[in-house]
Amino acid sequence: MEFPNFAANFKLMSIDEILNKVGPSTGSGTLTQKEIKLLLSTAGEDKKKLFDRALQVKLEHLDNYVHLRGLIEYSNICTKYCLYCGVRCKNLKVERYQLSDEEVIECAKLAHELGYGSVALQSGERSDKAFVDKITHLVQEIKKIDNGSLGITLSLGEQTEETYRRWFEAGAHRYLLRIEASNEDLYYKIHPRDAKHDFKQRLDCIDSLLKIGYQTGTGVMVGLPFQTLDDLANDLLFFKQKDVAMVGMGPFIPHPDTPLWQYRDQIPSADKRMELTLKMIAVLRLMMPEINMVAATANQTVDPQGREKAILAGANVIMPNLTPNEFRENYLIYPDKACVKDKPDECQSCLDMRLAAIGHKVLYNAWGDSVAFTRKNAPK
Ligand code: SAM
Ligand code: SF4
Repeated sequence: MEFPNFAANFKLMSIDEILNKVGPSTGSGTLTQKEIKLLLSTAGEDKKKLFDRALQVKLEHLDNYVHLRGLIEYSNICTKYCLYCGVRCKNLKVERYQLSDEEVIECAKLAHELGYGSVALQSGERSDKAFVDKITHLVQEIKKIDNGSLGITLSLGEQTEETYRRWFEAGAHRYLLRIEASNEDLYYKIHPRDAKHDFKQRLDCIDSLLKIGYQTGTGVMVGLPFQTLDDLANDLLFFKQKDVAMVGMGPFIPHPDTPLWQYRDQIPSADKRMELTLKMIAVLRLMMPEINMVAATANQTVDPQGREKAILAGANVIMPNLTPNEFRENYLIYPDKACVKDKPDECQSCLDMRLAAIGHKVLYNAWGDSVAFTRKNAPK
């Protein structure tokens, strides 16, 4: 994927003019596709202006707080075979696991003790009755910890509306389901074209989550084979149009045991994928000043400073991994994943220091809900 110097062809509009449309205090967030593309193409001084403005907008709307979600990678058993993902069911090299109920509850209790305020339960995708019942039970059990003091995010893929509703009623209140690519053609270049990987169904799932009342999160991978600047700009417009409460975006990282590995030489370098991810975060912060945005682990995998850079570009959520260490190496959706060997308490002190160094701090013992969502749903 090569991005031509779009900015050079676009002399009529200056970066200052575009940035003046979006904040900090205006918070209107209205940008056209052309303006987004121009911002995503910035370099040098213009790029610095973009990042400075995004940080300014974030601090004005959300202060310098970072919210934590203790990540529990519940299982790598998956019925799907997305073309990019290391735990796809067709990767026979993966040793499959599922945490016991006790292990999940231990992780959740640890999150509570560490003051994280929320957990995120993530897994390969299954929709059989045993799985749905098990998750319902786990959500109810996590809710019992200190009388419901932990917020619960789920990231368990596509499910029926009834299942989403059951988990919501059990106590989950946030759900992350990345659209992965809002362009249907691109979607089918990174997923098999079959009933298990249906684009329309993915859209319907996001709509169901929004309808039920979840704080709904979506997102994309950045730097995918065949992805264009138009695609990325349209992804941001898609998030805005759906008015989601949360977004997670991270660089695509090719995995050797997946079909997309064959295109690894046709994607931008790791540095460029990282830079583009940061620009996507910054532009989205201008467009949606009050949403929660995750500094994805993939950022840190590509660049040791990646998480901090994402926070400075406009992200405000970090998901420290609480999965017991012996299972982490089997949840390798991409190679060389960051923090696989870290212990949770080491992770925490390291995180506090790293955030302090960039003028940010963790808001402990709080759910850290999306301000955009809370405002939208406040009684009128
Ligand atoms: N199975 C659930 C789903 O697909 O929504 C949740 C787990 S899935 C592993 C979480 C996210 O990992 C996906 O939404 C995808 O964007 C990301 N991911 C998978 N493979 C990746 C890769 N090779 N590089 C970067 N991100 C990847
Ligand atoms: Fe399974 Fe999710 Fe990976 Fe797709 S992205 S193969 S659904 S774990």
